[in-house]
Amino acid sequence: MPIAMKNATTADEVLAALRAGDFSHEALRAALLMRGGEQEKLFELARECRDRCFPDKRVEVRSVIEISNICRQGCRYCNMGRKRDYEHYIIQLPAFMKLVEHIYRSGRRVLLLQSGENSAQSFVEHVALCVEEVKKRYPDMLVILCLGNLSRTQYHRLRQAGGDRYILKFETSNPELYSHIKPFDKLDRRLTCLQWITEEGFTASTGNIVGLPGQTLDDIVEDLLLIKKLKLSMMSCSPFIPAENSEFGDQPMGDLDTALNTMALLRIMNPHTLMPTTSALEKVGHDGQYRGLMAGANTVTIHDGTPEDLKQLFPIYSVSRVRPTQEHFEEIVHRAGLKM
Ligand code: SF4
Repeated sequence: MPIAMKNATTADEVLAALRAGDFSHEALRAALLMRGGEQEKLFELARECRDRCFPDKRVEVRSVIEISNICRQGCRYCNMGRKRDYEHYIIQLPAFMKLVEHIYRSGRRVLLLQSGENSAQSFVEHVALCVEEVKKRYPDMLVILCLGNLSRTQYHRLRQAGGDRYILKFETSNPELYSHIKPFDKLDRRLTCLQWITEEGFTASTGNIVGLPGQTLDDIVEDLLLIKKLKLSMMSCSPFIPAENSEFGDQPMGDLDTALNTMALLRIMNPHTLMPTTSALEKVGHDGQYRGLMAGANTVTIHDGTPEDLKQLFPIYSVSRVRPTQEHFEEIVHRAGLKM
């Protein structure tokens, strides 16, 4: 056992251990359970780590376009996916570029393209052409892709097209739990995809989900250790949201405090990385996204890219999904002492 954690019984001792870089299982487990004043001290340490590495106190602002809702995956907590009956769409290039133009004129320079997991070559090629067009017309627009598991060749094509970053959460580091929540996938495969993404030159992001049915506190500790081991430049943590009508529709949502403590620990363990305050935090608890900023987040995603009539066709996590606006972020970012 690391020296700093010997006989650690108080929150102050746990915090001192974390400050000293002792990320033992015992310290992380104890920190995940902190509440009230102890939790505030944990958040303070997380903010201290963030502000040391990002002294301008500026959050990264992203705009998201949900380019397609077609998904061949089948996560048991999701309303989209191969077994669901819903109207499919793919935003075609001319309409897509109008959305990008609007985002660019709004002053934003970070574009997140999200879709269901669809490895059909025609779809991947469509996204690649969209990315090429964005880079041709707006070379200073940074493009983040979030398209799920693809083949190495497909990642290569998207990177060649100009994609800068790729988000692929592993969701849980427990292989049995992973197979339980994603019965058509394996954790090994997910981690291999993440490796390909990195090797192809993307700036990669990964992360976990807190509160999955069957997940233990020890699983979350292992998630934290895996994220640290992967040494990426972006990371995330979201609380579990069981979508209505999904197989897990009757399961409870993830616990906001545990998710926030996970975020604070991620920040303490990986101070230089970008970490979003996700819309799922707002869904599970009052002022969730503000609290995410107070727990060390430094990235926000505005849901202003997808056209109104298509938003309802992208019910990932929930049909009553929270879709944060610019005004919402201006208020909470200012309140958290940060800048957009
Ligand atoms: S969470 Fe994503 S990959 Fe899983 S079923 Fe939903 S859209 Fe598909």
